[in-house]
Amino acid sequence: METILSIKNLSKRYGSLQALNDISFEIKKGHVYGILGPNGSGKSTTLGIVLNVVNATSGDYSWFDGKMKTHDALKKVGAIIERPNFYPYMTAQENLRLVCKIKNINYNKVLEKLELVGLTERKDSKFSSFSLGMKQRLAIASALLNDPEILILDEPTNGLDPQGIHQIRDIIKHIAAQGTTILLASHLLDEVEKVCTHVVVLRKGNILYTGSVDGISVNEGLYELQAEDTQNL
Ligand code: ADP
Ligand code: MG
Repeated sequence: METILSIKNLSKRYGSLQALNDISFEIKKGHVYGILGPNGSGKSTTLGIVLNVVNATSGDYSWFDGKMKTHDALKKVGAIIERPNFYPYMTAQENLRLVCKIKNINYNKVLEKLELVGLTERKDSKFSSFSLGMKQRLAIASALLNDPEILILDEPTNGLDPQGIHQIRDIIKHIAAQGTTILLASHLLDEVEKVCTHVVVLRKGNILYTGSVDGISVNEGLYELQAEDTQNL
């Protein structure tokens, strides 16, 4: 099975703070992979390193069985690591057409991806009129325009109401069912349990567990994590 992303002995220090301490894991094609851990555990730092926006202090990672340089590999990666940001007075469709133009993608993908995230009926509405959940769904559509091998999401349901959370999780599951590999960072145990097949559990930059999501439920210590997360919010 193809390895989409391999992380080996990655460490990151910010000054005296050890944000990541020698972490290793592998994401195989078709995995829905969660990085689970409380705030400050190193989830976003891990994503930043593999997306080449944060420099690791030591260690290594490789994309697609190491067959491609990072620069080329990242063209096959879709990522949403910030709050969705589009032109407010342009419509959903216009914003996505602009992304197509910039990235040299065929416009025919726009309506297909709007449909995938349930925004067909709002395609001619201005971005400024969208709820946070709709904005996040538009960001997912945008990240999928070039049919990436893997979609990376950092805390995709943060700040959403229960309906918005449910919609985003359903869309992620649907995208995964279509064969796209997923890497999702979340501080929510239930999110990872509902959406992911595999998980790496981080705390203070250290790996507590890697493996199938079912393995979390047999490890009692990991439930304490959830209590700690709730206090951190
Ligand atoms: P998470 O995404 O799990 O909340 P982060 O990767 O954002 O965790 O942060 C891990 C640790 O690194 C935290 O203690 C955070 O404060 C620290 N950190 C993150 N980014 C920076 C930065 N640019 N400079 C200094 N410290 C940082
Ligand atoms: Mg984070």
